[in-house]
Order: sequence, then C-alpha cells, then structure tokens
Amino acid sequence: MSESKITVPLLDLKPQYAALAEELDQAVLSVARSQYFILGPEVECFEAGVANYCDVDHGVGVSSGTDALIVALMALGIGPGDEVITTPYTFFGTIGSIVRVGATPVLVDIEPDTFNIDASKIETVITDKTRAIIPVHLFGQMADMRAIKDIAREHDILIIEDAAQAIGAKQNGRPACSFGHMGCLSFFPTKNLGGFGDGGMVVTDDADYANIIKQLRNHGMEPKYYHSRVGGNFRLDALQAAVLNVKLPHLNNWHEQRRENAALYRKLFTAAGITRTADELDTSLNGGIVVPLEKDGNYHIYNQFVIYSEHRDALMAQMKANDIGCEIYYPLSLHEQECFRLLGYKRGDFPNSERAASMSLALPIFPDLSDEMIERVVEVIAAFKA
Ligand SMILES: *Cc1c(COP(=O)(O)O)cnc(C)c1O
Repeated sequence: MSESKITVPLLDLKPQYAALAEELDQAVLSVARSQYFILGPEVECFEAGVANYCDVDHGVGVSSGTDALIVALMALGIGPGDEVITTPYTFFGTIGSIVRVGATPVLVDIEPDTFNIDASKIETVITDKTRAIIPVHLFGQMADMRAIKDIAREHDILIIEDAAQAIGAKQNGRPACSFGHMGCLSFFPTKNLGGFGDGGMVVTDDADYANIIKQLRNHGMEPKYYHSRVGGNFRLDALQAAVLNVKLPHLNNWHEQRRENAALYRKLFTAAGITRTADELDTSLNGGIVVPLEKDGNYHIYNQFVIYSEHRDALMAQMKANDIGCEIYYPLSLHEQECFRLLGYKRGDFPNSERAASMSLALPIFPDLSDEMIERVVEVIAAFKA
C-alpha cells in the first residue's frame, strides 16, 4: 500500500458537473431569476424530452422514483386486496410502494446471471387477485419483457416497469418504459440521469393514465380547488427539471462511456484468468469472480457493474484498505426485512436473491472513470486471496 497507488471512488459526480458547469449554473440561475419553482415550462420541456427519449407519448414529472411507483399504482386503482408481483432483490422502494398503497407484494426469485425477475416462475404465483407485475430493470439491464408481456396479456395483468436504474436501456432495439402500461424513472443523483436532488417521472402511452397521474401528483386537483380523487404532493421542481434538461442530451454519451468501462473490466478480468460463469455459483468460484452478463438483445446501461465473489466481505475489506470504492446492492433480500415479516416469507424462499445479497459487489463504473482506475480495481481484485 504505497502512497503512489491511486484511489478510486465508487462514484464521483464532480467531473460531470465540471464539464457542464457553465450551462448548469445558468439553468439554476434562470430558475432563481424567474422565481417559478413548481412545475411550469422547465418541467413541461423535460417531460416532453424524456417521453421522446423513451419512445412513449406522455411523461409526468414527479418528486422521486419511489413516488412515481406510488402514483402509478394509485392511478391504476391498485390497493387493498390486490396483489402485485415483483422480486425481493431490488431497491426497497419497489416493494415499499406496493405496501404503501395497501396492496400485497407477491415475490418471485431472480435469475442469477441478470439479477432480474425469472419470468419462468411468474405464472406459478398468479392468482385471481393479481393486478400488476413490476419488473425491475436492475442495475441498468432490462428484464425479459417479451416473456413478461406474454404472461401479462394471457392473464390480463398490468405491467409497470421499474426503470429507475434503466433509463435508455434497450431490448431488441426498444427502450425501457416502452413495453409496459407505465414506466417509472428516478433522477436521484446516482442514477445515469441524476438531478441536483430528488426527482422522478411516470411515462406512458396512455393519455388517460397520464391525466390521472397529473391530477394525483397535485392532490387530485382539477380544476383548481376541486378534487375528484385524493392524491398527494408528488410534484417535480422546476429547478430539478432545469438541471435535467441540460443533462438529457448527454445521456447517451454517458451510457456509452459506462459500457466502455464495462468492456474494459471484462477484458482485464479475463486476461487475469479470474472470470467464472454464473453456473459455477452452484459449486465454487475457485477464487474467481462472476462478471455481469449482458443478455443477447439487451443494451445494458450499467447503472451498476455488479460482480459475484465467494468471499465478498473479505474482498470488500481488501478493496477499502486499498482506497477503492465498492458497495453492496443489496445486503439483505427484501423478503427478509423486518418490516416485511408480515408477508410470511422466510430464509430459503428465494435462493438466488439470497445468494446475490451475500455475494454481490458493485464496482466503480461511472462515466468519468479513467482506464488507469479500472486497471487498479482489477489489479486489487486479481491479487485478492481469501
Ligand atoms: C432508485 C430506485 C428507486 C427509487 O427512486 P428514488 O428516486 O430514489 O425514490 C426505485 N426502484 C429502483 C430499482 C431504484 O434503483
């Protein structure tokens, strides 16, 4: 551990800000000068831009990705007595939103190689109470939407895509959020398109859903001070929209940089001889790691680059000791969380999710990562002995 070794942060947003500082500062200033803070023209411009980007007709800006999921469920009238299918290996907000509208989450395990819902297991949990499926496009790669759409059509179930980590991800050339009845996006600062705070959006091809969500985000109000339904304050700030309007045109470029970083990791891990396949998870990785699979037909945007390691916690400690950022997404599968105990699941119910929680590790992948930094991350991982 000599002082000359470089440090590698998990995420550093400062280079991105530096590159766009003049435009971003101008955008913030113009909102300040207008004193127009809530919804308004910046938000409308951003909604149109994102809808176009996702190849759908409507976008409705909301206060966060979590609130996007909540209003999407509310707009579909999903509540007590209804079941919504998703996976236990996702960000808390996916399942939290289902519970917050009073519905019951019904969980399906993930595929080990993509971390996404195993579509072949969905039909076994469908009941006459199933109203919707929320496929999560985890880490920036889309779930198998062809299989999910077939099942949803067959059983008359709605699809809400949780694309909080996957704006701009594609499957067979089509963007995330253009497959389901609605798509939910987050502009939390660590997402590929991140604001200067919280923000989110629901996108949809359906004009009626879009109108209902517009009402719901503003207390169900339409016209002013007349309420046909009970919504909440789920509005997007003009300040966030102004910042995001500056960033949106750069998003594809940032995706490409993340993909180049992922390709370099793959090349270097392979050269180091430590790359194993997901099949080997069932036996032993023999000191190696599993790098994320990009399934045929998928355009992965690498919000996270997540590996498996048999001795994950020791590897993580070694990386931290070498000033290399890494993080566990997520250390406890959601079916084992204390607050979801009432759902009645137990350890062993979702083996792939549980294994991901105990063996996965996210490496630095942000666009401004240098090749030298990636080389250093690989060097430390390749030198690791359990
Ligand atoms: C980030 C995220 C959310 C929630 O987004 P917020 O804007 O943080 O509320 C929901 N689902 C997934 C999969 C996420 O990664």
